[in-house]
Amino acid sequence: MIYFDNNATTKVDDEVADIILKYMKELYANPNSIHQFGVDIENDMEEAREQISELLKVLLTEIFFTSCATESINWVLKGVAKANKNRGNHIITSSIEHSAVINTVEQLEREGFEITYLNVDKNGVINLDELSKSIRDDTILVSLMAANNEVGTIQPVEEAYKIIKQKNSETYFHIDGVQAIGKIPFDLEKCQCDFASFSAHKFHGPKGVGILYKHRGRRIFPFITGGSQENGMRAGTQNVPGIVGTSLALKKAFQHVEIMENKIRKIRDDLAQELSKLGAKIVTPLDNSVPNTLAFFFPKLRGDIIVNALSEDEIYVSTTSACSSKIKSFSRVMESMGYSDEASRGMVRISLSHLNNSDEAELFVNKLKYVLKFLNY
Ligand code: PLP
Repeated sequence: MIYFDNNATTKVDDEVADIILKYMKELYANPNSIHQFGVDIENDMEEAREQISELLKVLLTEIFFTSCATESINWVLKGVAKANKNRGNHIITSSIEHSAVINTVEQLEREGFEITYLNVDKNGVINLDELSKSIRDDTILVSLMAANNEVGTIQPVEEAYKIIKQKNSETYFHIDGVQAIGKIPFDLEKCQCDFASFSAHKFHGPKGVGILYKHRGRRIFPFITGGSQENGMRAGTQNVPGIVGTSLALKKAFQHVEIMENKIRKIRDDLAQELSKLGAKIVTPLDNSVPNTLAFFFPKLRGDIIVNALSEDEIYVSTTSACSSKIKSFSRVMESMGYSDEASRGMVRISLSHLNNSDEAELFVNKLKYVLKFLNY
């Protein structure tokens, strides 16, 4: 099997899986219990929080655990909107955000909030002038992704922060950091913001754990009410096995950035060359993207046909993002970048991890050649 769909999800790291199992089988107390077993587990969970906060270069009290990045994003967008209504009802995002953002702001729009969608250029990058001009006195939040899940484009979030705060110091900035972690150098000292969302299963951690960074003092309503867990901001017994596993996975993800930058970028760039020789058009801007992602299309060929044909040989790539590909078979991101409907329907995405190698890339190209021949392309 060749697994080239790491932007959808990653294989859980062996050591991470071992520690998760240990917390399931042996260290299973509720971290909120007052007996010693519970207190010990709470200490372990807080140690995990501390490690995560140190890696992200923020305070321990600024890290909250959720069940996935979609939950973190929902919490930020809805929680900020509701808690800051008195300041305004205008929210800015971009046209190429993940559906977790797009569908949530659409819901807020139906509830009376005004949403501005920033355009992107042919490389998928927002225009900072447009951002600056869009910020108003009543803009309560800007939400932008650090790296795009479909085409890998890196957004200028550091510059965006400065512009936002210069134009309106009261406007909050949320970064969807899901696809940046473990792929490029990324921390919250470098990329300043008021809120940031992350997801463990994208960096070889378990499914079912999201992280929300909330800068101290920022106004947001709790998303899930109930018990006093997570400082009363996100009720529900914490997923301790997943949280402890996530902190180890994050530590390792930071170590993988160098492998991504050197080994994986070269494999990706070589693949782009090989695919171009076969007639593919490369969508990913190779010089401004996370090093693991390669989006391309073959003119007049539908992406799902290629994905399904390769799948027969246990080679796993994808069309658009995993969350959207079952609903619609064209890339909304590519459309926003100015591609035609036909090209957007052709998108195929390869997303590598540090575990992939050049032999797999070679095999992939050979299989693809065979598929193209079979399709008379
Ligand atoms: N944001 C981005 C950029 C993503 O790629 C994803 C997942 O594909 C999400 C958010 C949602 O993450 P989760 O699966 O943890 O809900």
